[in-house]
This record gives sequence, structure tokens and C-alpha cells, in this order.
Amino acid sequence: MLWLTISSVQAAPEVDAKLEEELNQYLQLTTSDQAAAEVLLQKIAPKITALTPIATKVRYNSYLSTTLSADKKYQEADQLLQQNWLWAEQVQDPDIWAEVLADHLQESWGRGENAKAVSFLEPLLQYAAKATQHRVQYYAWNTAARFQSWQGKYELALASFHQAYAGIEQDENPRTPFRKMYLKASIANLHGSLRNYPLALKTIQEGLAESKKNPDLASYVTDFYTQEGYLLVDVGELDAALHSYQQGLSWAIKQNNDFAEATLQNNIGDIYLRQRKLDLATSYFEKSLAFGVSKQNKATIALSTFNLGYVKVLQGDYAQGIAQMQAMIKEFGDLNGKADSLAYLIELADALRFAKQYQAEAETLRQYNQLSSEIFQSDREKQLNQLQEEFSAKEKTKEIAVLTQQNQLKAVEIERQNLQQEVTMLVGIVVALASVLLFLLYRKVRQANLKLKEVNDKLAYQSLRDPLTGLFNRRSLLEHMERRQISDRRAAAPQLTDGFILLDIDFFKHINDHYGHAAGDAVLVEIAKRLTALTRNDDMVWRWGGEEFLILLRKVDMAALTQFTQRVLEVIGANSITFGKQQLQVTASAGFLTYPFAALDEQTLSWPKALQLADMALYLGKIHGRNRAYGLVQLNQPYQQIAAQLETDLSAAIELGLVDVVLVEGPAKDERL
Ligand code: GH3
Ligand code: MG
Ligand code: MG
Repeated sequence: MLWLTISSVQAAPEVDAKLEEELNQYLQLTTSDQAAAEVLLQKIAPKITALTPIATKVRYNSYLSTTLSADKKYQEADQLLQQNWLWAEQVQDPDIWAEVLADHLQESWGRGENAKAVSFLEPLLQYAAKATQHRVQYYAWNTAARFQSWQGKYELALASFHQAYAGIEQDENPRTPFRKMYLKASIANLHGSLRNYPLALKTIQEGLAESKKNPDLASYVTDFYTQEGYLLVDVGELDAALHSYQQGLSWAIKQNNDFAEATLQNNIGDIYLRQRKLDLATSYFEKSLAFGVSKQNKATIALSTFNLGYVKVLQGDYAQGIAQMQAMIKEFGDLNGKADSLAYLIELADALRFAKQYQAEAETLRQYNQLSSEIFQSDREKQLNQLQEEFSAKEKTKEIAVLTQQNQLKAVEIERQNLQQEVTMLVGIVVALASVLLFLLYRKVRQANLKLKEVNDKLAYQSLRDPLTGLFNRRSLLEHMERRQISDRRAAAPQLTDGFILLDIDFFKHINDHYGHAAGDAVLVEIAKRLTALTRNDDMVWRWGGEEFLILLRKVDMAALTQFTQRVLEVIGANSITFGKQQLQVTASAGFLTYPFAALDEQTLSWPKALQLADMALYLGKIHGRNRAYGLVQLNQPYQQIAAQLETDLSAAIELGLVDVVLVEGPAKDERL
């Protein structure tokens, strides 16, 4: 355990005792005669050599840099501070480090570079704890404490001030009494901030007792009394506060401390004001005002004028008093920033309440609240900013690197997304265009196809149909009979035959000749219509020639066929056909037979041959008086033997008994026509 004790005892760095003494004198002089102090510092300069111990050189540089910085010669000041830093690194002595770090913190804080200042605080506290020289301990802890207080870290600041005090308590240095008073005042002030009023007042009384003993510390007596007055006002002890202020005032007058005197006159006036001793208050405020005017001190003038305005209000001169107070609040704001007018707004509100101007009072309190929340906000921000600043520069660099990386990634991601969007959009456009084109093309093709189909259908229709009557034409019969053969072959052996009826209109030439070709056409159209109406879906009607028609009945026997032929003749001849104003009497002659005929297979008696027989039967009808039909019923001889006879002279064949026929007569002629 021994080694631990030994190692914890730090040896003080080597110093040049004589130069240190001169530097002490310099420091002493700075409190009373800055110019003389600087002259002294210049005298010390040539005594600093390469052989001077680093600790002393650092101290000298520190003081010189402070004067340079005060003259805003920052570059030169920085060079010295930089030199000190290098020495500190070289020597690695806690005292030197503590002094160098305190300098750096003080300097950057003084220049408003708070982030930088914060970064020095932690190492400063570490080296301050290890420092051995009283002066350095005081300087290091004091610097840290003031900065912590500024940061609002009152408890920490209080601890640091106590450390500073402990550091110099046993110091024989002539500066020690001053330093102690300064620290007492600072400690009392912090206790006040922490609302530790008894401790604050106790510290002040200690300070007063000390400072009153030493004439060199007289200025501290005034300060302590003033500070005591503020604290007593805060705790509501106005009489005691008045006493403190009056004590302070008498000390200030003794010391010819004009500014302290003016301040204390205002403070005393303020107490009288609170106690509604308005004449006394006025006399003190007027003294303060006179001093402010004589010294051209705007702040003192504003404060005194404000207070005098308040007095006017309390005396019943509301309008002028309030106007005066308001003008001064604006002046405070202009002089020291908005925060400075905060305390005065409360007093203005009090004055307005006194004047029973409640609405204005409320408005003033609203202003107060707004301002105080603004200040609170900015204080909060300051604190948060400081927290932020407490990150080390290294961490910040890391953070920045990460952010940069993230930004780059984001940028790349955004670019990728944009690109993807563009590609998607382009693809979309292309697809859309292609779709439109394809659709248009498809529609065109479809339309063309439809048209083609239409045309084809039309052509097909036309090629199979008779344009005048719409009936199948003769050509279509060929096609139909071929299809029919195929389908029939597939089907089981048909029980029933088909039937052919071949028709020819009688004396058609006559209609044409008499009523014109159009009349003939009309007759053809009308007969086609009547025949179509007569037949079933399965049956078919062809226009066989000019005024000849062919009917194919499906699945009929001879009896049904004969009956149907009867109806055909009737549908043609029973009712005349209207053409314009004309009533045209039309009859037809027909020949008919079943197909297959007489159980003859299609090879033996083909359909063209069958039609030829029908034509022969038709002819029979013509020669036997027209408006009649002949049907071939059956053959009495094998077909091959009588075929020639049948096809050339049906009448003779009938007479020879080779074939049986049936006669169907048309309707009686309408004799009126
Ligand atoms: P028949 O009783 O002997 O049949 O006497 P017909 O006058 O009907 O004689 P035929 O059958 O030989 O004459 C057919 C006439 O039909 C000949 C032709 O001028 C006429 N014709 C043929 N096609 C058309 C047509 O499309 N329209 C008109 N108006 N007449 C036609
Ligand atoms: Mg004819
Ligand atoms: Mg005819």
C-alpha cells in the first residue's frame, strides 16, 4: 500500500522562483493598475529564456496571451497557447496541464466558442484534482466553477468553488485574501441561486467579517452588503434588506465607489417603494438619476426613471407614470436585450393593477409570460446545445462521417429510386404505346377481318343465292347434294325418302310482255316468298332457272309429297299477285318424285337423273293443260330397261304402263281476272 501513497503524492513542477515572484506581482497589479501590470509583464519578457523551466514559461505565456487576447490580438495569443499545449504534452505535468487547459477553456469561452470550451472542461477537472501548486489549483478550479455556473450546473460549480477555496486556504500568497473573498461571494451567490438562503447569508456574513478586518478588502464589504440586501429582499425581509443596503451605501461612499453608490441608492429607493414610503423612495431614485446623468450611464438613468415612474403611479399620476415605465422597459430591452426587461414587466403589472388598469395588467403579464417562456426556451436550448457540445470532437467527427455516409447512401438510394421510376415510367410508356398500337392494329385487323368475313360471307351468300329472290341458286344445289350424301352416309339407313318438286310458271313470257319485266320480277319474288313460307326449316327452295323453282323436302313419302305439291300449286295459283294496281293471276306446272326413287340407289339413279325425270313430269303437266303437277310413283319395269324411254318420252312410258304417275291439279282459275 506504500507505493500507492507515494505515487498519489505529486511533485510540484520545477519553477523559476524569482520569475514566479515577479509574475505574482504582475497579477497583483492587474487588479489595481492594468497598464502598470502590462509594463511589468514586458519587463519580465527578456528574462524568459530557453533555460527557464517550462512551468514558469507556461505561466508567463498564459498571462501574455490574456493581455493579447484582451487587445483582440487573437492570432498572437493563440500562438502562445499553442506553444503551451506543446510544452504540456512534452512534460505531462498535472499543474502544467491544468494551467494550459484552464487557459484554453477560458480563451474559447471568452470568444464564444462554447463547444470548444466544453471539450476542455473534463480534462481540466481531472488535472485540477492532481495539481499541487495553490495558484494553479485556484485558477483551475475557479475557471471550471465559473464555467459550470454559466452552464447552470450550480451544484457542480459550488463543489468546484469549494475545491478552489481548499486549494488556497493555506496559501501564503498575498493574493489569497482577495481570492478567498471572491470565492465566498461566488459561493454565496450560488447558494442564492440554489435557494439555500441560510447558507448564502452565512457565507456572506463570513465574508463580511473577513473583509471588514482588512482595508484592502473594503470593496468586498460593499459587495457583500449589497448581495445580502438582495437575498433579504428575496426572503421578504425588507427592513433587514434596507439595513444591509444602507450599510453598503456608507461603505461605498467611504470608498468613493460611485457605481456601487448609485446602485445602492436605487436599491434603497426600491425598498421604500415597496414600503410605500414614496417621498423617501423619490429622493433616492432622484439621487441615482442625477448620478446616472452625470456619468452618462444609460442603465442607471433608465433604472431610476423607471422607478420614478412607479412612484408616480403610486401617487395617482397613472398616465405619466405608466408611460414612463413602459418607455424604460423598452430602453432596458434595447440596452441589454429582452431578458433584462423581464423583472421590470412584473413591476409594471403591479403598477397597472394599482391603477386598476386590469386589462393592461393582464396584457403585461401575458408579455411577461411570453418573454419568460422565450428565455426559458432559449436557456433550455442553451443547455441542450451544451449537452450536444459535450460530445468529444472525435465522436462528432464519427457522427459526421456516419451522417455523410447515410446521406451518400440516401443520395444513391434516391438516385436508384429515381432511375427505377424513370425506367418504370419509360417501360410503362412503351408498353402503353405498344398496347395502343397493338390495340389499334388489332382493331384494324379485326375490322379488316370482319370486313373480309362480311365480304366473304356476302360473296359466299351471293355465290349460293339468287340476287332477285334470295333463294338458293342452281349452283348451290351441287354443293348441297354433295354434303347431303356425306351426312346421309353417316346416318343410319333413312326410313323416309326426300322429295323433289320441280316447278315452272305458266305463260310467264306473257306477264313480261304484258306487264313489263319488272312485273315478271315481282311475280318471281312473290312466288319465292310464298314457297319459302310454305316449306319447313329442313326443306329447301332453289331458283332453278328463269321462272323455274326446285323444292327439296326432307323425309317424306310419296303421299306427303303429293299432298305438299298440291299445296304448292295452290299457294301459287289461289291468290293473285299484286303488282302496282295490277292483280296478276299466276299458275305453275310441276313434276315431282321421291329421292331415292323406286328404291334405286344413288349410283343407279343419281339426283341429276332424278331431276331429269321430274322435268319430264313437269313437261307432262305443261302439255296437259298447265296449273297441274305429275308425280312419278313407281316403276313397273327395271329402271335400266326403261330409263331411255322415261327420259325421252314419259307420256309413252306411262301409256305403256312402264311407270305409274299421279296427277295433282292446281286451283280453279279466278274467272274475274
Ligand atoms: P310456259 O307456260 O310454257 O312455261 O310458257 P312461258 O312463257 O313461261 O315459257 P318459258 O318458260 O319458255 O319462258 C320463260 C321466260 O321467262 C323467258 C324469259 O324471258 C323469262 N324470264 C327468265 N328469267 C326472267 C327473269 O329473271 N325476269 C323476268 N321478268 N323474266 C324472266
Ligand atoms: Mg320456263
Ligand atoms: Mg314457263
